Amino acid sequence: MMRERSRVEETISHMQRAGACSLQVISDFDMTLTRFAHDGKRVPTTHNILNNRLLMNEDGTIKMKELFNKYYPIEIDARLSTEEKLPLMVEWWTKVHELLIQQRIRKDMLAHAVKESRSMLRDGYRGFFDHLAEHQVPLLIFSGGVGDILEEVIRQNHVFHPNIHIISNYMDFDHTGLLQAFKGQLIHTYNKREGALSHAAGLGELQDRNNVLLLGDTLGDLRMSDGVSDPRNILTVGFLNDQVEERRESYLNSFDIVLVKDETMDVPNAILRHIISSGTSKTHRKKVDT
Ligand SMILES: [Mg+2]
Repeated sequence: MMRERSRVEETISHMQRAGACSLQVISDFDMTLTRFAHDGKRVPTTHNILNNRLLMNEDGTIKMKELFNKYYPIEIDARLSTEEKLPLMVEWWTKVHELLIQQRIRKDMLAHAVKESRSMLRDGYRGFFDHLAEHQVPLLIFSGGVGDILEEVIRQNHVFHPNIHIISNYMDFDHTGLLQAFKGQLIHTYNKREGALSHAAGLGELQDRNNVLLLGDTLGDLRMSDGVSDPRNILTVGFLNDQVEERRESYLNSFDIVLVKDETMDVPNAILRHIISSGTSKTHRKKVDT
């Protein structure tokens, strides 16, 4: 769905003329690059993947579930404002991280937990990741989930290419490989603007790429491009996975394109194929310039 089809077409055509060398993709991870559901069951988020008997005891599992049941309905509640949700979301993330630290999670078990999980990237993910890598288009994954886990999910799907940059919550292990803390500033659904700004300087490779394709599944994800200096064209695609009727209006008012209960990467892939098709690649342009 699109609120303003003509604007979408115009933006895509500007981006297409500028080509792959001006493009960067900024994407959320959980429920944006991963599926929301499969065979009628929810696909786990990075936090839910940690909720595995290999990593957590029964007590921890129950507490994690309780936190989800309490805070997830708040996260997706269309009647609450961002300001009202913010302190509660910070509370949720903080409690989850504390719980994970208490569980003394072992680094060497993370890959096993991912393997055992029902985690799934969206259909068409391979074309998405491979195509971007092939054309050296940077992919910035910006996630309030757990960086160690999302990296493992991407790796196990064999699409962890060198064009990927990640801003997320990373685990800090002690010398014996036990989780002792999380590194750096907490990133969650509603502080992606602050995260984007504080990381902008470190992402030098992205600086001269002022056309952005942004993918997300929450309104907070729209702030992921706030660190881009001098943006020219930003096309935003929102996956509306849940609470469709309640949130349709606000998504349509916020994202350029809204994908309703679409478990595939078909639309982003089609846009990328079009943008990248006739534009010159970075290496090609360099050759021409010299
Ligand atoms: Mg998400």
